Amino acid sequence: MCKYFLVIFSWTLIILCSTCFYWFFSKNLIEKWKFGKIFLISDSLIFLLVIINFLLVMCLDPGYIQIEISRISFVENGDFCENCRIYRPPRSHHCKYCNRCIEIFDHHCPVVNNCIGKLNYKYYFTFLLSLFLHITLIFFICVLHIWTSNNQNSEYLCSWILLGVSIVSGIYVFSLLYLHLKLIFLGKTTREYN
Ligand SMILES: [Zn+2]
Ligand SMILES: [Zn+2]
Repeated sequence: MCKYFLVIFSWTLIILCSTCFYWFFSKNLIEKWKFGKIFLISDSLIFLLVIINFLLVMCLDPGYIQIEISRISFVENGDFCENCRIYRPPRSHHCKYCNRCIEIFDHHCPVVNNCIGKLNYKYYFTFLLSLFLHITLIFFICVLHIWTSNNQNSEYLCSWILLGVSIVSGIYVFSLLYLHLKLIFLGKTTREYN
């Protein structure tokens, strides 16, 4: 399978569903609901957080161990990586997909095609949290629209499609968010926990 398949799929799903949501519901929300404008502004800011953190997790260095530093610092108490030919600090691990050693390695994430480690974990967690909030808001607006709508137009059909997508993706994102909340509480990485 192409290593960019899940990256392209996730980006397409997030952009497509959010565009449909804003396109079909913005006008309605502002006109029919007293707090519609505040809701839209809040959700747009959350959506902006989703996009920024998704980009940061994808593009930032997750914590690659610098060969020069590792040779000097970790000879005494680090373990040796046969692939990188370096001594690495405790809690680091060699990723077979990136072919590098990562400091405080959590896992390799196919959705962003990057490792999650010491330097990008906070962006990964913020991405999960903001995405879950965004999905939850879409879910509630769709339920509200289906509940109150009396004509079965394109908005009505879009509500049902977005409702289905938000339930499936919401369960998936929530399970990841719950796992990482637990890991933060325990002070462990996904690799140490499994
Ligand atoms: Zn290595
Ligand atoms: Zn990796």
